[in-house]
Amino acid sequence: MKNGLIFLGPPGSGKGTQGQVLAKNLQVPHISTGDMLRQAIADKTALGEQAQSYMDKGELVPDNLILDLIRERLSQDDTKNGWILDGFPRNVAQAEFLDKLLLTINHQAKWTVNLEVPDDAIVERLLLRGRNDDTEVTIRRRLEVYEEQTAPLISYYQEQGKLHSVDGHQAPEEVANILQDLVTA
Ligand code: ADP
Repeated sequence: MKNGLIFLGPPGSGKGTQGQVLAKNLQVPHISTGDMLRQAIADKTALGEQAQSYMDKGELVPDNLILDLIRERLSQDDTKNGWILDGFPRNVAQAEFLDKLLLTINHQAKWTVNLEVPDDAIVERLLLRGRNDDTEVTIRRRLEVYEEQTAPLISYYQEQGKLHSVDGHQAPEEVANILQDLVTA
C-alpha cells in the first residue's frame, strides 16, 4: 500500500517548507500544485497561460485545469512508496476526485495534516516571503478563498478519521519534529 500525506492549512502555514523536509526524510515526492502551476507559467505552456490570471488574483484555478495534472502526477513511478500533497485538494470537489482516484490507483491518503497558524502571523510571513502573488490585496483574497473553499475539508477529513491538527505557529524545526513523529508512529 502506498501511503500518502495531505497538507491542509492556509497559505503561509508552512506546507511547502514542511513538505520538502518530510519528503526528503521519507524519500517520497513532494507534490505542490502551486509549484507545478508556477512551472507551467515559466514554461509558457497552455496550462500556465490559462492559470496565470487566477493565480495573480488569488483565486483558485478552475478544477478542470488541475485534476488531469494530479492524476498524471500521482500515476508516475516515483510515487510508489508514497507522496506528499501540498496545495491539493483545495475544495470539496477536488477532495472527492482524489478519493476516487486513490481507489483506482490503489494508493491511500494515510494522514491529513492541518497546519494551524493565526491570520496575522500568516500575513506577516507572506509579506516577508514576497512571491509575485504575495501582495497584501492578494494575500487577503487567498485567505478568504481558503476560509470559503478549503477550510471545509477539515471536517471532510475529520469524518474520515484522518485529520491531525498541528500547531504551525512555532519554529520550523519544532513543526518538523512533530510531523516526523506523526509519520513514524
Ligand atoms: P499558497 O498556499 O501560498 O496560496 P500555492 O503555491 O499552494 O500557495 O498556490 C498558489 C496559487 O496556485 C493559488 O492561489 C491558486 O491560484 C493556485 N493553485 C494551487 N493549487 C491549486 C489547486 N489545487 N486548485 C486550484 N488552484 C490552485
